[in-house]
Amino acid sequence: MIVWLRRHAPAGAAALLISKLAASGYQSSRCRLDGRLVLVLRQADGRGAEPALCWADAIAVVDEIGDVVERWFPADAGSTIELASLAAAGCRSTVRAGQYAAFGDGDFAVIAGPCAVEDPLQLNAVARTVAGLGATVLRGGAFKPRTSPYAFQGLGPAGLEMLRQAREVSGLATVTEVITPADVERVGAAVDIVQVGARNAQNFALLTEIGRAGLPVLLKRGFGCTVDEWLQAAEYVLKEGNPSVVLCERGIRSFEPGTRFTLDISAVPRLRQLTHLPVVVDPSHAAGHRDLVAPLALAAAAAGADGVMIDVHPSPAGARCDAAQAMVPAEFELLMGRLEAMLASLGRRLAGAAAAVRTGAVTVSA
Ligand code: PEP
Ligand code: MN
Repeated sequence: MIVWLRRHAPAGAAALLISKLAASGYQSSRCRLDGRLVLVLRQADGRGAEPALCWADAIAVVDEIGDVVERWFPADAGSTIELASLAAAGCRSTVRAGQYAAFGDGDFAVIAGPCAVEDPLQLNAVARTVAGLGATVLRGGAFKPRTSPYAFQGLGPAGLEMLRQAREVSGLATVTEVITPADVERVGAAVDIVQVGARNAQNFALLTEIGRAGLPVLLKRGFGCTVDEWLQAAEYVLKEGNPSVVLCERGIRSFEPGTRFTLDISAVPRLRQLTHLPVVVDPSHAAGHRDLVAPLALAAAAAGADGVMIDVHPSPAGARCDAAQAMVPAEFELLMGRLEAMLASLGRRLAGAAAAVRTGAVTVSA
């Protein structure tokens, strides 16, 4: 059962509600969404999603303290999207990471960097370049979930160290993938945002661990997941009390072999109807080829996305992972200019323009 407390509910009243629920055998985890406290209740025996009738005791307690409660939902009241729901939250959320990065505040955020962290020279060079061009987040995989067990699996902990350095060098926030629950803590200690990849999009143990750790998470869509299944994956993070979820559309599997995946651009406006969570698009992994990345990134901006994630590599020919889809810096520069123009026509702007000035990556003359 999900209980939304009133925006200005006194802390004491909320604590009283929680302790009464605990005395009646309900465990609660807390989450703060849009300044309101949300309680997710489970029966102490672990049965989380029982028919509403089984919640009679809890409902009685909630009714008793009705003045701090705005509304409540039994977890199975027809919708499985509770904490991610726009209708329930009432307004959109902004996810912040690092010093300056934000998703969902109206500006268009650009995440850029190599598919995989390869060495400090490569990563620092890309970091400086993309920071100067207006990106706010550096991407780079240290742990790579590869289809073939014989392919490059990433540098692991050494890659995390390189991401730490690149953050220092560039002032950018950083994002990297975590592939197993046991690594959540050390990956989270090294970067500002953890990524859950398409292949792990329904790894519920991983999602729960990230929820408990409270780390900002970039949750990619599983390439066989419906929008509803993807939002339910987000619920796994939210229900642990972690509100910092950014959704990333990266293409789904279709019958079309001409692109690596089929970018589901319609998911962007559909998600904006359904959820308060920010939505970004990764056209690089969808397209699989650098020539297709710019038009898809522009389409994402036109469709109302909160940002994009772009593979950029100083010399893609030598990339150890996903070489065909990485842009060279000059192509990325061109794309940023086109994005800026497209966003201006929509009354929006690149988030990075202001951030680059603040970090000193770009100087403005008076
Ligand atoms: C990635 O971003 O490096 C990646 C592996 O993407 P996906 O999980 O979307 O395939
Ligand atoms: Mn990749």
